[in-house]
Amino acid sequence: MFTSPPRTGRRALQIAVAGLLLTAVAVVGVVTGADGVLPEGASAFGVAFAVNRGWRSTELQARLLREAIAEYGSEAEAARWVASVGTSAHVSGDAVDIDGSDAVSWLSGSGAAYGLCQVYGNEPWHYELRPAAVQQGCPAQYADPSEDPRMG
Ligand SMILES: [Zn+2]
Repeated sequence: MFTSPPRTGRRALQIAVAGLLLTAVAVVGVVTGADGVLPEGASAFGVAFAVNRGWRSTELQARLLREAIAEYGSEAEAARWVASVGTSAHVSGDAVDIDGSDAVSWLSGSGAAYGLCQVYGNEPWHYELRPAAVQQGCPAQYADPSEDPRMG
């Protein structure tokens, strides 16, 4: 069942989602001249983009973490793959998981120019919005989420 984000966080979520959508539209629009329209299976440089996962409710994030702990056998090992409810960039609306190795490899080379950065070495599909990357490039990656100070 879909659960709305809390009202207090809604504005921040809208801004974050709008940022991600605008960035995605900009990638497609700049390349194809598509005037801000993001068609189904949009492609840029001949690369098809699809978003596997975007915003998650706290309930879904909590369930994913419980499942990861069961699968990996410990909280410490699960933390390398799934963030907690309070720290997940998916819950705050700042992250997308991209589908398709061509799209992932295109973003790896060109994402920074659009403010999209890979954050974790073990999650090549996970991209977060980093507007400063347009000017400064993406920050150094963490090996996995357990090294991310935001996860503390
Ligand atoms: Zn992710």
